[in-house]
Amino acid sequence: MIIKKLVVGPLENNCYSIADEITKETLVIDPGDEPDRILELINENNFKVKYILCTHAHLDHVGAVPDIKKETGAKIVIHRDEYEIYKRASEQAAIWGYELDPLPEPEIFISDGDKLEIGNLKLEVLHTPGHSPGGICLYGEGILITGDTLFAGSVGRTDFYGGDIEKLKRSFKRLMSLSNKVKILPGHGPESTIGKEKESNFFFYEI
Ligand SMILES: [Zn+2]
Ligand SMILES: [Zn+2]
Repeated sequence: MIIKKLVVGPLENNCYSIADEITKETLVIDPGDEPDRILELINENNFKVKYILCTHAHLDHVGAVPDIKKETGAKIVIHRDEYEIYKRASEQAAIWGYELDPLPEPEIFISDGDKLEIGNLKLEVLHTPGHSPGGICLYGEGILITGDTLFAGSVGRTDFYGGDIEKLKRSFKRLMSLSNKVKILPGHGPESTIGKEKESNFFFYEI
């Protein structure tokens, strides 16, 4: 498994490319901004992008979807409960003061328990609402992609449209039930592990 991370845009979103070493089939996660840098990384590594997955549809996770879609033709994947926010990306952009064309329609709506196959890699969808209604994590191959549900030392805000603190608590508990060794790749900030978060995440002591 190859994991490449780029930190993109003013909100410093982590955009991950996860590729199967042999087939070079690739999943691009949360292309939020700076499409040229993301495409350069894809081309440099000869990645064949199969899916573009958004852990949720806040602007900092979807802003570069149109360009990556155009250049790679990969299928766009989101959770159905996130569609409403996804459709309103241009409105989100206007609030931040810039223009964004409407996003291309998603081709695949995923649900809890679905599996994405990228070459020989298998990642399972965990629906983890709370930060946003259709927020998901991806789990498998020893890693957990957490979007804005879980960060090193903290969790995502719940004061945006569709946020829900009670749901976030349930999602957090579910993630903490995974093995301590699982490596966390969050939507912002540094990596962590489930074990570390059990010791140091402030939210662990609040629920
Ligand atoms: Zn977010
Ligand atoms: Zn974010």
